Amino acid sequence: MAEMSCPSCGSKVFEPGHIQSTGLIYQRLSNAKFAILEPSEIQVKSQMCMDCGHIMLFVDTEKAARILKS
Ligand SMILES: [Zn+2]
Repeated sequence: MAEMSCPSCGSKVFEPGHIQSTGLIYQRLSNAKFAILEPSEIQVKSQMCMDCGHIMLFVDTEKAARILKS
């Protein structure tokens, strides 16, 4: 991953985590193929800016590509 900077304050100080409700949060792709051997949900992970608290969300783009190509 390229070096990140906070879109809110420009800081480069982050801590990783995930957004949690009663369970983990997943991205479900609208164009997912169903003939794949792995779960089609992609866990959403986060990076929190340690200077202003802004949170950015990320998913595994390699897994998304596998889901769309299968
Ligand atoms: Zn920030």
